Amino acid sequence: MPQPQSSPQPSSQQSPQQSPQAAPADPALVARLAAAVDERMPQTISTLEDLVAIPGIAWDAFDREPLERSAEAVAELVRGLGLEDVEVLTEPRPSADGTERPGGPAVVGRRPAAPGQPTVLLYAHHDVQPVGDPELWRTPPFTAVERGGRLYGRGAADDKAGIMVHLAALRAVLDAGADPGVGVTFFIEGEEEAGSPTFRRFLERHRERLAADVIVVADSGNWRVGVPALTTSLRGLVDGVIGVRVLEHAVHSGMYGGPVLDAPTLLARLIATLHDDDGAVAIAGLDQHRHAAIEYPEADYRADASVLEPVRLAGRGPLADRLWNQPALSIIGTDVPRIEVASNTLQPEARAKFSLRLGPGTDPQQALEAVRRHVHAVAETALFGAEVIFEPGETGQPFATDTDAPAARAMLGALRDAWGVEPVETGIGGSIPFTADLLEVFPGATLLITGVEDPDSRAHSANESLHLGDFRNAVLAEALLLARLGGTAATR
Ligand SMILES: [Zn+2]
Repeated sequence: MPQPQSSPQPSSQQSPQQSPQAAPADPALVARLAAAVDERMPQTISTLEDLVAIPGIAWDAFDREPLERSAEAVAELVRGLGLEDVEVLTEPRPSADGTERPGGPAVVGRRPAAPGQPTVLLYAHHDVQPVGDPELWRTPPFTAVERGGRLYGRGAADDKAGIMVHLAALRAVLDAGADPGVGVTFFIEGEEEAGSPTFRRFLERHRERLAADVIVVADSGNWRVGVPALTTSLRGLVDGVIGVRVLEHAVHSGMYGGPVLDAPTLLARLIATLHDDDGAVAIAGLDQHRHAAIEYPEADYRADASVLEPVRLAGRGPLADRLWNQPALSIIGTDVPRIEVASNTLQPEARAKFSLRLGPGTDPQQALEAVRRHVHAVAETALFGAEVIFEPGETGQPFATDTDAPAARAMLGALRDAWGVEPVETGIGGSIPFTADLLEVFPGATLLITGVEDPDSRAHSANESLHLGDFRNAVLAEALLLARLGGTAATR
């Protein structure tokens, strides 16, 4: 998964398990699909173990052969479901020296929709993170080991379990005779952990083949073991450089210091205006548009973020909103002289790079414009009229699921029926860049971000693992989704 998931717990007042649960509208269907999922579960897990054994890493420094073997293995599994035109496809990746290298191999396989039925795109990725320090692993990373109801190994959760959820869900629908003929397209990427460098061009080249009414991205996490989640919001991101210019050139601080403030001091004053006294972002125009339905316990946040004991938290409002729905501004680098080369001079110029997370509903270009307006307004009041620098950088869109869309309602219902508890709608404070690409290329599709991870999965770290009970429930939930989307109005 692209962002490490934290480990919040539902608060006692708002435990999702306290919501009254409606019985499934179709208990016989749930039972039939559950039996089909359980019947194949030993084989599903053993296939997942085979995939874990292939160390396919898409980083340039790693051997490409296992990555290609991994794609072929996945393609073979998709073919095994009887899908048509299953292919391993790559998109060329131009590099700085003018040469081209192939992007990570993706697997695409399609089953066309029966007349009148919607099409679902099932996304996961088969490439994995490197193992890091092998000393930290208690079991060999590329040998799946089951212990205590969990399956350990690199990729066991992120994201080979996501691939297996898609495969096993469709298999269960077929086995149970519950197939309404929904179109199914498998899209298993091969370079997600390397930052998806060719993803956008890949989508555009294969736009027709990948077009869908519903996109299921199985690469996120659940709330905790036993409580499913649908990730319904992601923050956007803009960055850029702000700075201050005050002198034509550096001058002696003894001869000239006093009547003019040096650029690092003025930069500190500028940075200090970016937050108010509560530590909330003080830039006008970055309003909050959504409110989290669940509380994020402060103790978990403090522990996960390693906040020092005497530090008070910044900002206002529920912690979940501060993490998922409000802006967050950080200074991530500065250009000022390093202490070891410090001399007694007034510095003429200083610059800082800011990173601004945006809640869903905030437009990235308007956010950059708000920062620009802010630094120019501050120049007169706090910076003694010094010249300010503003250089806009990258932008990434925030995301929010329309939870009233038929497919989103179907997914939430399927999660509830598979786990037997109400699902939690969670956010992620970071971004998943490829989801923005999916929405831009397929603006009419409903994007559903699901996953198999839980707070103990340790994706990207040593001893990555999958909770096998939640994995089984994730397969059942997706099977229910595929069965129930048939004949619904889950179309664009
Ligand atoms: Zn992932």
